[in-house]
Amino acid sequence: MHIQANYSLLSHNTFQIDVKTQYYIEINRQSDILTLRTDIKLASLPWRIIGGGSNLLFTHDLEGVTIRCTFKKITVVKEDHDNIWISVGAGVKWHDLVTYTVENGWWGLENLALIPGAVGAAPVQNIGAYGAEAQDSITRVHTLNLYDGQHREFRHSDCQFGYRTSIFKEEFINKLLVYRVSFRLRKLHNGKPNLVYTPLKSALEDYKKEDLTPKIIYDTVVKIREERIPNPSKTGNAGSFFKNPIVDAEYFETLFKSHPDMLHHKMLDGNYKIPAAWLIEQAGWKGELHGHAAVSNQHALFLINLGGATGSEIEALAQMIQEDVNHKFGIYLEPEVIIL
Ligand SMILES: Cc1cc2nc3c(=O)[nH]c(=O)nc-3n(C[C@H](O)[C@H](O)[C@H](O)COP(=O)(O)OP(=O)(O)OC[C@H]3O[C@@H](n4cnc5c(N)ncnc54)[C@H](O)[C@@H]3O)c2cc1C
Repeated sequence: MHIQANYSLLSHNTFQIDVKTQYYIEINRQSDILTLRTDIKLASLPWRIIGGGSNLLFTHDLEGVTIRCTFKKITVVKEDHDNIWISVGAGVKWHDLVTYTVENGWWGLENLALIPGAVGAAPVQNIGAYGAEAQDSITRVHTLNLYDGQHREFRHSDCQFGYRTSIFKEEFINKLLVYRVSFRLRKLHNGKPNLVYTPLKSALEDYKKEDLTPKIIYDTVVKIREERIPNPSKTGNAGSFFKNPIVDAEYFETLFKSHPDMLHHKMLDGNYKIPAAWLIEQAGWKGELHGHAAVSNQHALFLINLGGATGSEIEALAQMIQEDVNHKFGIYLEPEVIIL
């Protein structure tokens, strides 16, 4: 374990913002936490956890201790004729895990290909894309308490998974470090493709359903994402900046009368989800610039760093969008990105 002071987080956030943290520490043993807690200076400071920094916007230098978990091992825990259970270190890159499972012919994670970040953040965020969520395959989440180093294991039903959230993002944010995540995946003969997301289904219409494999789905998802989503290694961004807002049926009907072309998705509870990208585009923000920050021309839900942007510039752009969308549609866009 190496403690670094006044450490730049430039290579630890996909927005490519150059801020410093007072202390930066990579944890790769359970005992590391207890060792750190005996250091009175470190123990008295606030601690925060980061993964790959792909859902974070840093707006200033960070006081206190920034911790990243680097456990990397993937272990097969058990298997039967139909299923396989694996346990994965929080420091493994999410897309590398998806690639590994697909190469083994296991079903479960293929729709979630090419999502940046580390495995440890997947249950925290309950990442999702193309009709699937991490919680569909997660069986257990293994955590370490940052105050006393104690291990605690959460079953799926304890995790309070929701839309891009979980107990680890709410009650236990920056208190419990996820160091391992267990998944149940289906073997090739026992799985079937998840095609609930219509654009994915359309992209695969040349295939007979029984010919589809996890690898075909994975390749298709990667292709669609590469076409639609700005690549953070080239253009700094943190994915969807805002959550898709949900409105009740009454408000939806009012809006729909004045905007009959409004994209929407009726939910099981009768409420309506409206794509934030549609609202931002209709409000005229697609491609707009603010200093070194901009709304992507490729996809209006992505705010991008044109090079040298500060976190405050990006935050200011986000606030202007929020105010304008609220003014035009009466809907407040809640950030999905965590602003620090
Ligand atoms: C181009 C692009 C596309 C994206 N597409 C998607 C998408 O399709 N679907 C989607 O859901 N997300 C998407 N995202 C967002 C992002 O990739 C996910 O939220 C991802 O899970 C963040 O992982 P991370 O390791 O970078 O976590 P960070 O951004 O570093 O942290 C996110 C949160 O998790 C906490 N955290 C991280 N690691 C741990 C840990 N080990 N223990 C406890 N807490 C932890 C942090 O404290 C923070 O609150 C995208 C991002 C980008 C840049």
